Amino acid sequence: MLPDKIKLFVEIFRVAIPFLGRIIIERIQASYHRWTYKAIPSPKNVVIVGGSFAGFELAKRLCESLPTGYRVVLVEKNSHLHYVFAFPRFSVVSGYEKGAFIPYSGIARNAPKGIFQLVQDEVVRISDDSVILASGEELPYEYLTIATGTSQLPPAKLSATHKEEACKELQTAQENIQNANSIAVVGGGAVGIEMATDIKSFRPEKDVTLINSRDHILPQFGPRLQSYALGAIRKQNIKVILGERPQIVAPGSGELRFGDGQTSSYDLIIRCTGQTPNSGLIMDWSPQSVSKETKRILVDPNLRLENLGDEAPHVFAVGDVAETGAPKMGRAGHMQAAVVASNIVKLIQGKPNKLEKYVSNRELEGATKLTLGKAEGVIYITDGGRKEILVPFNRVSEDMDIRRVWGMFGVKFSEGASSE
Ligand SMILES: Cc1cc2nc3c(=O)[nH]c(=O)nc-3n(C[C@H](O)[C@H](O)[C@H](O)COP(=O)(O)OP(=O)(O)OC[C@H]3O[C@@H](n4cnc5c(N)ncnc54)[C@H](O)[C@@H]3O)c2cc1C
Repeated sequence: MLPDKIKLFVEIFRVAIPFLGRIIIERIQASYHRWTYKAIPSPKNVVIVGGSFAGFELAKRLCESLPTGYRVVLVEKNSHLHYVFAFPRFSVVSGYEKGAFIPYSGIARNAPKGIFQLVQDEVVRISDDSVILASGEELPYEYLTIATGTSQLPPAKLSATHKEEACKELQTAQENIQNANSIAVVGGGAVGIEMATDIKSFRPEKDVTLINSRDHILPQFGPRLQSYALGAIRKQNIKVILGERPQIVAPGSGELRFGDGQTSSYDLIIRCTGQTPNSGLIMDWSPQSVSKETKRILVDPNLRLENLGDEAPHVFAVGDVAETGAPKMGRAGHMQAAVVASNIVKLIQGKPNKLEKYVSNRELEGATKLTLGKAEGVIYITDGGRKEILVPFNRVSEDMDIRRVWGMFGVKFSEGASSE
């Protein structure tokens, strides 16, 4: 049997080679596009609702490929991209908050003039040919993509839409943790685990309890990661309670009631459970296109909405809000964005028979880098079956490598992240 480090290396190599080839071709096409695209006075709109991992990538790709006569309009309620991967860490450690909010200027940095418009607003309604914004503005569309993701309680997701207030939300989370002696983290998914281990490793004096409704943590991953992570958590003296779904006795009371009726008090309860898909816009407009079970938007293999009817407009959905069968991870949204960008361009070119199909690559899209506190973590890859590669690491940068992350979104990290 090969050691996991070598298996990981082989896996990265296997994925990276075709990926690199594709990137080179895309760069050449983008350069050609930059010279050939011509801005015109009233272009048709290709509207994207939601500018996080999936929507950002789709906007960027369309800026590099839409033909003359069309432009991308991204409608996003947040002033900056919320880099949620860092939220658990930045809810515990202070000084880095600003870095978690990335300017959108990277989307069209190298795009031709006139191809991109960012609208900071909330879409409140969709019709057959336009989206209606909270400001009252109506924005006509020729093609529409829903990339509205999911909602979750803070600090997993934040409610503030402007950077300054969003930073304050993270600072409030830090103060709450600082002021509490006993902390219950409810939810044994990746977010709950990162939260609990960050609190305990940066603030070892705190009494931390992790509570999970199932008998095993990390239900979306395989048994090897589950038992490795559980071992690491227990080694850090975090109390673990499994198979319990406690109720908060009274709002703000800090008291949890467990299945046997017993209650426990905590200075702070952090809930890292329950993602709700933001599918309400489609629910109001085309309820038959939303799954009754999962509340996610139903899509066909080309990622177009299902059950819209033959005369329906061109509407797509990507990322966590879409029922694609893919892992709910940032990378899956990226891959889906590539398919939708290509399909929109093919439809504009009058090639409806050449549309790309999205097939989830679980190994690539579900690969995860899970931190287990200040100085530990694990890289994990699975095919959803028996194949599991697990490589622990013991160097985690305190700022979650935020400078490099900004670069990935096409922006130079400015000191203090204050200039944009
Ligand atoms: C704390 C945390 C840590 C995570 N860590 C990882 C990780 O390490 N690796 C990984 O791969 N995945 C991770 N994930 C999962 C990953 O973040 C999600 O899969 C990803 O964010 C999904 O991207 P999305 O674009 O589909 O939607 P979301 O990120 O949910 O974003 C949706 C966007 O749409 C906007 N929006 C919604 N409704 C409207 C509207 N009506 N009008 C205008 N704008 C709207 C929102 O403001 C938001 O910007 C993590 C998730 C959390 C919460």
